[in-house]
Amino acid sequence: MKRKQHSPQRNSLYSISGIRSVLIIFSLALTSCFDSPMDEQIRFVEPQLKPYVDSFIEEAAARGVSIDASQLTISFGTHDGAAYAVRSTNTIVVDSTSYDWVSGLREQLVYHELGHLYLGREHDDDMIGNYPKSIMAGVEDPWDEGRQRQRLGMRKYYIDELFNPDTKRPDWSL
Ligand SMILES: [Zn+2]
Repeated sequence: MKRKQHSPQRNSLYSISGIRSVLIIFSLALTSCFDSPMDEQIRFVEPQLKPYVDSFIEEAAARGVSIDASQLTISFGTHDGAAYAVRSTNTIVVDSTSYDWVSGLREQLVYHELGHLYLGREHDDDMIGNYPKSIMAGVEDPWDEGRQRQRLGMRKYYIDELFNPDTKRPDWSL
């Protein structure tokens, strides 16, 4: 993304004092942040995204996988690629203006990012017939709701595969 260039300040005195006061306020904010213990740091789960996180944890538990998402921060924001995850900070950002979100591919979008964060999954662009092998496909969407209705078991396969990449190739992909 391109950033706007700031034009050079003519009045350097004003700009320097302006920067100073911003720095002072900023360092105060940092100080109060670091004063609180790690486990009291504010985590945020966007209410519209919470059902997908909860169901992911349930799908994991149903497959014998325990997920601790207590440190997760998941929120809306802007991103060219619909969503992204940062492992080091346990953070997921979802773009609610993206095609995936707007067109209703919300579950797989959030599950994909949770797969990066909690299952150690990287992108997998293998195909099974005309379909991506995995919800971890980097570009193509594994299913849309129309296909899902047509192909019973599609959602189950993709969630099985998310938790176990060796899941048997489903009949509907042959
Ligand atoms: Zn990804």
